[in-house]
Amino acid sequence: MKYKGWILPPALRDFHEGRIWLRNHSPFSAIDMERAISNQYFYIIEGIQKKPFIKCNRCHNTDPELFTVFDCAGCRRSCIYCRHCIRMGRVSSCTQLLLWIGPKALKKRQHLLQWTGQFTELQQQAANEILASVRAGRSHLTSAVCGAGKTELLFPAVHDALKRALRVCIATPRTDVVLELYPRFQHVFPQTVIHALYGGAPKQDGYAQLVIATTHQLYRFDRAFDVMIVDEADAFPYTFDETLQRAVEKAKKADAPIIFVTATPSTRLQQAFQQESYSFIPKRYHNHPLPVPQFSALWNYEKSFYRGKIPTRLKNWTEQCLAQQQPFLLFFPTIALMDKAISLFQSIDPKIVAVHAEDPERKEKVLKLRQQEIPGLLTTTILERGITIRNVQVAVVGAESSIFTANALIQIAGRVGRHQDFPNGDVRFFHHGVTTSMDEARAKILYYNKKGFPL
Ligand SMILES: [Zn+2]
Ligand SMILES: [Zn+2]
Repeated sequence: MKYKGWILPPALRDFHEGRIWLRNHSPFSAIDMERAISNQYFYIIEGIQKKPFIKCNRCHNTDPELFTVFDCAGCRRSCIYCRHCIRMGRVSSCTQLLLWIGPKALKKRQHLLQWTGQFTELQQQAANEILASVRAGRSHLTSAVCGAGKTELLFPAVHDALKRALRVCIATPRTDVVLELYPRFQHVFPQTVIHALYGGAPKQDGYAQLVIATTHQLYRFDRAFDVMIVDEADAFPYTFDETLQRAVEKAKKADAPIIFVTATPSTRLQQAFQQESYSFIPKRYHNHPLPVPQFSALWNYEKSFYRGKIPTRLKNWTEQCLAQQQPFLLFFPTIALMDKAISLFQSIDPKIVAVHAEDPERKEKVLKLRQQEIPGLLTTTILERGITIRNVQVAVVGAESSIFTANALIQIAGRVGRHQDFPNGDVRFFHHGVTTSMDEARAKILYYNKKGFPL
């Protein structure tokens, strides 16, 4: 006799557990999905709920302006779809969203933490505090200056949670940060299945007990995580987009703590946590002060670029980096200006390149700078955080531009002097008039140095 029943493919269970997923987007066969549904392994909800108010059940968007009516080919009726999360596949009125309520994935309790690093006293204290908060199920804010070694602080708490068979998510607004964190966690947790999720990420198999994801990808989870860590909690677009904050709430279990980690906490975050569950590290792991930005006037720099000339001070700065063979990052306020400038810089050294947010070779270019295959990189604010390059020197062109908020400037300055062997370096804000953001960035850096190195 041949067995005629159906056995749940473990891969289907492992994929769908914790996810909220479009029925017609499942990577599994229609037959298996139908069987799983008829076995009541899924809870099915409508994509767009109309009462008591209109709401997308995937991204929890409730803004009436972000819904559009269209003639739907699927149901041959008039449907409403959510514009807010359209990039992850259309959710419309006739869409079915699936939530896994079937058998649970097998969670491992054996996880190796392979890390030989040494905490500084301040790091050890913060790591202990984070661990204690996670164990107590209490949310926590860790504020640590750029280069304080924030990632390592999480290792003990993450290891402890994994060993208790909990599911952990590290979310960050930036894809670059996901790409930076993923290999580091893979390296220190070699026995743990870890997935890295971001727009365009490759398919990854197995049940991931540790997920490193952009905050956008959290729309696709629902009450999935026992511990939620939000890294770079202040980074665009997280601060501006309330639905992203709701995505964090939705992706975690109701009672799961959120651990915020950032170099530049918002006043709101600070006010919420400063009394309790708060760790603060004012100095870098290598025990050197943060490089303090220098202001340098660069009057009418835009005109100069459009006339085909690099302003003299900037040119001198660049030539100095080249002469001393120090890798450099040059931040520009707009892609247009950077495009104008790049050919001028290439006439000084043809190996200088430019990178912007949509650049498909973005990762490769950063790697080339790191490996000293190119001398310098022109960039927009996309590289303001998450990257570490040995001995890098940094200049901001047009630091007065509104895109360079105090936090962005602090993060940019934070790229310099991170390596133990090169704890110093130049941070130059070239400007057409000093702004309050520039003053604030500088004042905060001086404040951290004062806190970290009291007289
Ligand atoms: Zn939506
Ligand atoms: Zn429809």
